[in-house]
Parts: sequence; C-alpha cells; structure tokens
Amino acid sequence: MPATSPAYSQDAALPYIGRFAPTPSGYLHFGSLLAALASYLDAHHRQGTWLVRMEDLDLPRNKRGAAEHILATLAAFGMHPQGEVWVQSERQLLYQQQIQALIDQGHAYYCDCSRSDLSPYQGIYPGTCRDRNLPPAKDHAVRIRTDNSVDGHYSFIDRLQGHYSQHLPSELGDFVIRRRDGIVAYQLAVVMDDIAQGVTDVVRGADLLDSTPRQLHLYALLGVRPPRYLHTPLVVRQQGEKLSKRLGSKPLDPALASVTLYKALAALYQAPPAELHGAPPAEQLAWGAAHWDPSRLPVTREILQDQLPAV
Ligand code: GLU
Repeated sequence: MPATSPAYSQDAALPYIGRFAPTPSGYLHFGSLLAALASYLDAHHRQGTWLVRMEDLDLPRNKRGAAEHILATLAAFGMHPQGEVWVQSERQLLYQQQIQALIDQGHAYYCDCSRSDLSPYQGIYPGTCRDRNLPPAKDHAVRIRTDNSVDGHYSFIDRLQGHYSQHLPSELGDFVIRRRDGIVAYQLAVVMDDIAQGVTDVVRGADLLDSTPRQLHLYALLGVRPPRYLHTPLVVRQQGEKLSKRLGSKPLDPALASVTLYKALAALYQAPPAELHGAPPAEQLAWGAAHWDPSRLPVTREILQDQLPAV
C-alpha cells in the first residue's frame, strides 16, 4: 500500500465536488460560517458542486434544533446545497457493514481497553488488543491497524498549509473507528461519505489537519484515491481556543445575513470592496466566488480574532 496516495491534483479536469459537513452539536456561528463559506466559494469558483452533509453520529452531543438552524441559516445566507442533504445517522448500517468488512480483512479488531488502561500511553495506542482476537462485543471499541502500511508515513500537500505528514504507528497507533459506546467514529464516516458522494475537494478548518493522515490511511485501505485538501485557519479568541460552538459562540442571526457575510468575506482575507457592504447575500457570494483566492489566507492554523482584517 502506498504511504502517500496520489490525490486529484493531476486531474484538474475532473468535475469538482465539495462539501460542508457540520456537526449539529451547536448552532451555526461565525467560526462555522467561515468553514461553510470557504468550501462554498472554492466549489463555486471552480463551477463545481457544493454539498452539505449533517454529521450527527455522536448522538449525545447533538443539540436539539441545531441541524435545522444550520440549514436555515445557510439558506438565509444564500448558500444552497446542490443536492440532497445527507444525514449520517441514516447511514448507520453501511458504516457497520464496512467495519465488519475491515475486521474480516484483518485490518481492524475489537479492543476492550479502558481509558485508565490507556492513560499511561499519552494518546498513542500501544497495540494491546491487536493480536488478542477478541470476539465481537457490543461494548468493545473497534480499532484500525496502523502497522500494516509500507512505512507508516501519511503525507499530503495541503493547498494552503503545504506539506503535512504523520507517522501513524508512532504518533497515534491503531485508532478507533467504532467507539465503546457503539458510535461510529468521525474518521471512518467522513471518509466513507466523501467517497460515496464523489467529493474531490475537502475545504475545512485547520483543526482537522491532524485528522487527515488517519483519513488517508482509510482511503488507502478502501482502495480509493483521496481528495485534495485545503485547511483554512481557525479564528480563535486566544491561542489554542477555538471560536466554536463549544465555547458558546453566538448563533448567527439570519436577519443580519448581509452584514455578517461581508465580515466573513473579510475574515477569509478576500478584501471585499466597500460597495459590496450590505449588498444582498447572492451578490456578495457571486463576487466572492468570482474573486476567491485562498492564497490570500495566512499560512497558519490559527488567527487571533482581533488580528483579522478590519472591516
Ligand atoms: N463534522 C466535522 C466538524 O464539524 C467536519 C468534518 C469535515 O469537514 O471533514 O468538525
């Protein structure tokens, strides 16, 4: 298996399919709007298709009404998905079947390690259950082997962040694709769905940069070429603190769409002209898509909120 799979970079002619894949654990706020907008503009700049997928597998974290708020707010901002909105909780059976296939192929195994068993290893799974051949059990996790690739290095060239690489066996070890509580892990579901939807380009926040090597490993196991990646900087209030729903960032008010969209274009360093201020969302989006240039973004994973370009 190749350690670095060729991405789509050689195939600029391939139809572009991008997506925004929110988790409905909170309402749409300014930070998630930036992720949505970057993926939308990148897709539309390329005359591609832009999809929305609801990543609601972590049921205990879902917030009532959040999925509806996200979709309604995107619509108020003029961002309409060009296809049905997929909902991951409706696809559970497919994920379970894929997990079973990975187990049958010897790529994955059951693991009954508890959090306290693993605490001495600082997040790097030591392979405890890899050769134990534990029988299926509802309350066991399922882990994917990372010792079975050529050299364990997973590298890619991010369109903004540049070269990024992880040596999975030593930096992470075998990782979970089904949690002990039975919930299918994000890493597997995102890869399966991006494959099923034919996604060629993933544009998302840089907090997911370090998930990408795990996802590349899954692409390699599933025998599918990975997409291109663009990880945009996260806006944070302080170093290490995400402008996120978890921190209770304010839900966006659809009535303020025009003003907020202008701010978002500016926060993505697209320097929208003053005339666009307060223009209807459709007009701002059309300008944004025509002029989209992600290389204007600073090459960094985090930007402090108060260092964003002034509007
Ligand atoms: N659902 C993930 C999140 O909201 C994003 C998935 C992705 O874009 O790959 O953090």
